[in-house]
Amino acid sequence: MLQCYGCASSVGGRGGRCSHGTPASTYGVAPVASVLRMRQCSRPACAEPAEATLTYHYASGTAWIDGLSGEREPHRYDLCSGHAARVRVPHGWTLVDRRSPVAA
Ligand SMILES: [Zn+2]
Repeated sequence: MLQCYGCASSVGGRGGRCSHGTPASTYGVAPVASVLRMRQCSRPACAEPAEATLTYHYASGTAWIDGLSGEREPHRYDLCSGHAARVRVPHGWTLVDRRSPVAA
């Protein structure tokens, strides 16, 4: 779906204008904000959209999978659903999938 580069409104038709009137073509490249909304899986050669975030916590030997985090961080890896389901952790590590609902 096309979005206006000047705001979050969807662009109607081929004119590239949303209701606030900024021509999408004014901007040669999408601003960073648009890139962040379309994060990709971080695995090489994988072009799937990221749907989960893998975090390594080296101190405790734990890796966990969360829903896609809001920010990119150095020890976090964005993964598509397929790669998130096939995560392997080093021997002795614990993998925790925190996306599952936790019974309180
Ligand atoms: Zn992937």
